[in-house]
Amino acid sequence: MKISKINVFQVDLPMKEGAYSWSNQSFAAFDSTVVQIETDEGVSGVGEVCPLGPSYLPAYAEGARTGIATIGPDLLGEDPTHLARINHKMDRLLKGHPYVKSAIDIACHDILGKVTGQPVCNILGGRLQEKVKLFKVVSRADPDEMVDKITAYQEQGFKQFQMKVGADPDVDITRINKVANALWEGNVLGADANCGWRQHDAVRVVKATADVKYYVEQPCETYEECRVVRDHCHHPMILDECMDSLQAVLRGYQERAMDVINLKINRLGGLTKARLIRDICVSLGIIMTIEDSWGGEIADAAIAHLAHSTPKDFHFQSSAFHEYATHAIATGAPVIEDGYMRAPETPGLGVEPNWDLLGKPVASISA
Ligand code: MG
Repeated sequence: MKISKINVFQVDLPMKEGAYSWSNQSFAAFDSTVVQIETDEGVSGVGEVCPLGPSYLPAYAEGARTGIATIGPDLLGEDPTHLARINHKMDRLLKGHPYVKSAIDIACHDILGKVTGQPVCNILGGRLQEKVKLFKVVSRADPDEMVDKITAYQEQGFKQFQMKVGADPDVDITRINKVANALWEGNVLGADANCGWRQHDAVRVVKATADVKYYVEQPCETYEECRVVRDHCHHPMILDECMDSLQAVLRGYQERAMDVINLKINRLGGLTKARLIRDICVSLGIIMTIEDSWGGEIADAAIAHLAHSTPKDFHFQSSAFHEYATHAIATGAPVIEDGYMRAPETPGLGVEPNWDLLGKPVASISA
């Protein structure tokens, strides 16, 4: 089987709630890229990459499309089911830029699933959990507005929450106190600063909220700052943005820098590399939030399959982004119910893009 054509689509994902706000950033929509890989045997696969705007991680939407256009021609003729070979070739063609390679790797998994008649979670190790626990993001807003939101989400059945902080530290202390106060017994709360605090402010926030039961996520930009904050807090620590490679995870493990990592598929370069880190985390005893930076139904399917194939004890939570958007870019998305999602059991990712909505490809790479 050979890759015969790579189609690249651009699609905007507007927010149902009007905006998504974290740390000091806020967006009304995200720019997503869908990749379709066609083969000489008629089977095709899809993948998606959606950076969270251009200044969240070293990744941006136009960069994803430019990068795919750069490496795409040299992938023609390759067998998409040879995942390690495809990844090795992509790394030789383009140094770094893991997010560029992510949608291609996901599309190759979709094809491998289709040709073997297996859902992607089986390729990633099997369905170790029947359903995937979700968290709901409480977007940064006025503290009382955040209380109203977490209350409504709890009424919808969600049990785990990630409230966005990382702006003014004094307001954040109020946010954490008020939102934690509105949390129902047994539910779980994380406060994610998304790198937004300076080290001294982060230390101040965690000390002022020492008696509140919550997880702290990525308080500051660098690993080193987060490591210092950990010495001052008794809350479990989740590291996210700085866990950008296997080396970073191993360093964090050795230096006892975190209790949980947030594993984002496109930050690591796709399912092949995310799976490697997932399996090593299981071996080391590190539990994981499994998600991506953003996306629609296709990215969510990839998240769901990776999470399904992770032992339940090592899976902290996942996110499903498609429910935040005003429109669906594909059918067959993981079904969300009572704070959990389930990936389709059909071969591949189990999603079918809404081609009418995607329109004409912005690039088509073929011989
Ligand atoms: Mg995070």
